[in-house]
Amino acid sequence: MNKDYEVTIGLEIHAELDTQSKVFCSCKNSFGAEPNTNCCPVCTGMPGALPVLNKRAVELTIMAGLACDCEISNYAVFERKNYFYPDLSKAYQISQLEKPICVGGGIRLSSGKFVRLNRIHLGEDAGKLIHEFDQTHIDYNRGGVPLIETVTEPDLSSAEEAVEFVNKLRDNFIFAGVAKCRMQEGGMRCDVNLSVRKKGSPLLGTRTEMKNLNSFKAIQRAIEYEAKRQIEALERGEKIVQETRKWDDEKGVSLSMRSKEDSNDYRYFPDPDLLTVKIPELTVQELKKKLPLSPEKRRELYIESYGLPQYDANLLTSSKEISDFFDACVALLKEPKEFSNWIMTEIMKLYTEEVGILISAQNLAKIAELILTKKITRQNGKQLFYEIWNEGGDALELAEKYGMLSSITESELEGIVKKLIAENAKALEDYKSAPDKVIKFFIGGVMKETKGKADAQLARELILRELER
Ligand code: ADP
Ligand code: ZN
Repeated sequence: MNKDYEVTIGLEIHAELDTQSKVFCSCKNSFGAEPNTNCCPVCTGMPGALPVLNKRAVELTIMAGLACDCEISNYAVFERKNYFYPDLSKAYQISQLEKPICVGGGIRLSSGKFVRLNRIHLGEDAGKLIHEFDQTHIDYNRGGVPLIETVTEPDLSSAEEAVEFVNKLRDNFIFAGVAKCRMQEGGMRCDVNLSVRKKGSPLLGTRTEMKNLNSFKAIQRAIEYEAKRQIEALERGEKIVQETRKWDDEKGVSLSMRSKEDSNDYRYFPDPDLLTVKIPELTVQELKKKLPLSPEKRRELYIESYGLPQYDANLLTSSKEISDFFDACVALLKEPKEFSNWIMTEIMKLYTEEVGILISAQNLAKIAELILTKKITRQNGKQLFYEIWNEGGDALELAEKYGMLSSITESELEGIVKKLIAENAKALEDYKSAPDKVIKFFIGGVMKETKGKADAQLARELILRELER
């Protein structure tokens, strides 16, 4: 990259809200249904059909704003953004322009840089065009799905920063429970506005916009390509035209699509079918109380209150499902490090987002308790874990069924150890020269006496104590 230039990036990130129904009608909001089965006169824009605002969608937008430290407006207005495209049968999209639900706020990057948000507003998604050979099909199921749009100020200056920002915003939304942000399903998409300027220039350069990037890799590559393209054009003495460009992920190039429209072109006006939404301060306060902890706050809690290493805290907060599971386990049994170990070793080996966690917090807490109270050995505990993950069942019942529960108390075990040592004076003589062999010999003896029910670790400790006397 040419060192004489700096890059300026502003993002517009769309995320579908995790509601049961659409934003202005009662059609289902669900991904992957048979095409055109979740549609009605309202979301397809039939004449005379009237929209009714989904309260939950407004609440989730407020929570998204709270998760990013936005200010929540005390009233909000829905406006029509008019344009024609086949995936938008109404020929207008209900959105917000002058009075969005959330304003300001921002996210801090790991470098310490604070990226300001301009706003988060609520609107509706459009349908989807499916291109097949020489035909195009339209699926209107997605039309009317609640969509929040997060607009940043032009504060980002590299592909790495943009990717980190989108990652953090996505985590914020997922942990706040407002959106699933499944990029591979189009549940989160990103428009990149980018300009370059000579270092030290007081004015921002002319920007281009690349729409609908739906993976971190695509965001990264599109930014790198477009920055280079603009710098090279300027170096050749050309002017950058303000335009919308299409990123072609397969070819790895961006191509001019159309000259950029500005908001005037959309003839925005307040939707006469929808009332101004009042947002009482009390509602905001109540939602604030319900807001789940952010990933950042959870990491802090894990490190400062539970004494976990940074490494554990990062891993445990790598997904909301894992973090929720960990919290549920610790709520049942206050042994954070024990559960952190289970998650980092056994669970992470088997866990996938699609399949989820196939053991309940109750069962894992039971297994951990049985191990920590020395009722079963750790090895048997692991066996129980795998059995339950694969086949289901109850930890305690299974431990009983397999005769894993040790009925041997520590003092009984101590008695057995003392007896064995007293009976084997010969082995004792070899202790100085071959300690490991002798310890093994006595552990074997304990296991034989107890039919394998003794805790090997505890037996070893007791044997060592006797031998070292
Ligand atoms: P419009 O409403 O015309 O789309 P906005 O001013 O709302 O324009 O900005 C849209 C996005 O473009 C924002 O994320 C903003 O940060 C970004 N942006 C604005 N100007 C520039 C620029 N010169 N270079 C890069 N990004 C920009
Ligand atoms: Zn509908």
